[in-house]
Amino acid sequence: MTATDRSQMSLPRYSGIPTFMRVPFCTSLEAVDIVLAGVPFDGGVTARPGARYGPREIRNMSSMTRAIHHVSRFNPFEVCRVGDIGDVPFTDLFHLERSHEDIRRFFEPVFAAGKLALSAGGDHSITYPIFQAIAPRAPLGLVHIDAHTDTWDSFKGSKFTHGAPFRRAVEAGLLDPKRTIQIGIRGAQNSDEGWRYSLDSGMRVVFIEEFEARGVQAIIDEARRVVGDGPAYLSLDVDGLDPVFAPGTGTPEIGGLTVRETLALLRGLEGIQWAGADVVEVSPPYDVGGNTALLAATLMYEILCLLARRFR
Ligand code: MN
Ligand code: MN
Repeated sequence: MTATDRSQMSLPRYSGIPTFMRVPFCTSLEAVDIVLAGVPFDGGVTARPGARYGPREIRNMSSMTRAIHHVSRFNPFEVCRVGDIGDVPFTDLFHLERSHEDIRRFFEPVFAAGKLALSAGGDHSITYPIFQAIAPRAPLGLVHIDAHTDTWDSFKGSKFTHGAPFRRAVEAGLLDPKRTIQIGIRGAQNSDEGWRYSLDSGMRVVFIEEFEARGVQAIIDEARRVVGDGPAYLSLDVDGLDPVFAPGTGTPEIGGLTVRETLALLRGLEGIQWAGADVVEVSPPYDVGGNTALLAATLMYEILCLLARRFR
């Protein structure tokens, strides 16, 4: 099946083998412009596990995805070839850093071939090896939606947990902290060193109180200013949203973004030079009625529309 074959999209939603958004399963990168990929891995969590089941449930709920955006009337499937390239295969599942190498190796040929990847996690530790796979010529910009800055140094002897990917990325020269904005940050911590690292390195940290006070349009303007014209990555941790909307996640924090705020925020990020994106931290064992997986699938569609603009 080629990535232009959309016959599966017209099947009844409950039939067929579930790929993301019912796009063709692709084994050849030549057949595709934007790849959808699963990273079923939660070996980096510091609290409740379960994100390893994320890709499978998001694929299932993404059978509800349709093609034409109801606001823009944009159809991402019409302007580019979108394919599901499956899940990262793990060879050394019980070793965190070697699992990250598996992730890096899986994505390296994707980015080397000039394709865009939209990935479903998995816990947030997966973003660091994806950055390694992108191997940008200059450090990337970042729009990061999350309750947590994920710039903590280490936890229980590891520097590669889901609380650390963006600190590691800065240290490796893959991420430009001055072109990074973190949105939705909140929740008490036992140490403030992660927040301090973000602020001291020059990241723009938007705590949820500032988001609420200034409103979504001001934060969109701020994000566009911070990221600028260079290549940037979009990383969306579903715990950035309120657990009322996204209960199925490992580290919930009350008082988060609403779905409508998140949709408005994402739609305001059109035209940024996206290098890739991910939606992470969906933990189906804690999900209620599959709502978090449906949310993640829908946010992936919104992000796909952002990525596909490049091909219009
Ligand atoms: Mn996170
Ligand atoms: Mn988080």
